[in-house]
Amino acid sequence: MADLGIPKNTIEVLQKYNFNFQKKFGQNFLIDTSVLDRIVSAAEITAEDCVLEIGPGIGTMTQRLAAKAREVVAVEIDRNLIPILEDTLSDCDNVTVINDDILKVDINKIVQEKNGGNPIKVVANLPYYITTPIIMELFESHVPLKSITVMVQKEVADRMQVGPGTKDYGALSLAVQYYAKPEIVANVPPNCFIPRPNVGSAVIHLSRYEVPPVKVTDEKKMFALIRASFNQRRKTLVNSLNNSPVLGWSKEQIAEVLEEMQLPATVRGEALTLQQFAELSDRL
Ligand code: SAM
Repeated sequence: MADLGIPKNTIEVLQKYNFNFQKKFGQNFLIDTSVLDRIVSAAEITAEDCVLEIGPGIGTMTQRLAAKAREVVAVEIDRNLIPILEDTLSDCDNVTVINDDILKVDINKIVQEKNGGNPIKVVANLPYYITTPIIMELFESHVPLKSITVMVQKEVADRMQVGPGTKDYGALSLAVQYYAKPEIVANVPPNCFIPRPNVGSAVIHLSRYEVPPVKVTDEKKMFALIRASFNQRRKTLVNSLNNSPVLGWSKEQIAEVLEEMQLPATVRGEALTLQQFAELSDRL
């Protein structure tokens, strides 16, 4: 099958099937061979790997993944794309296409069946409207995972990578950095896609830690605390945590712990490192 990274070939397939882009599914297909190659090389795929691709579209990246990996499982929500994928991937006997919503699929079951429960690699040009839920679900459900290499909105990639004291720092930064080491590997302008998105994009590689970089007794509690801290970003930590309907600590209790940690009583959540959130969670 012709390389779909070449715009002419993608346009030919779209015309052959009279395909209508669905905005609600965040459909922006890649038409740039160097970006596709960059994503696949950042994912470091070997002939032993089982790869999960989320949203294969017309199969542009799937073709490249199939050429490198032992096995590829591609989950696509849009049923209109399924006959197209059967055509564009007809030469690839190591690809399984599943027509479903990735948020409803039992990924642990796929990993069991296709990779004997061993860690898989996830690669995707993600639909931007559900980037965060997809990534959080992959981490929080503890799917055996080596890495996630994804195209996301540039601003979201920045949020995943930054540290305390910057405007982009928040609950997503902390969650991602608890589970994985993030690295932005490419910035991608709108003209690399058809149709062009309204925003800039970036490819980020998240390499899953075998052991998280900080120790915390209760992960769930720490993340509830982090979410509450950033819900009201401009408020002091004492007020944001005290206002949270789910946490139930008094202002005095919070102030006391901050003092033990030698943090000022007026400190805001955006100033705390992951290590400090872990300590706060254990002490409270
Ligand atoms: N991988 C293709 C490429 O790079 O050209 C397409 C990328 S496009 C940004 C996102 C793809 O994800 C679309 O094919 C869309 O239909 C699919 N998609 C959107 N929501 C999905 C979901 N919840 N589960 C699975 N696929 C989804």
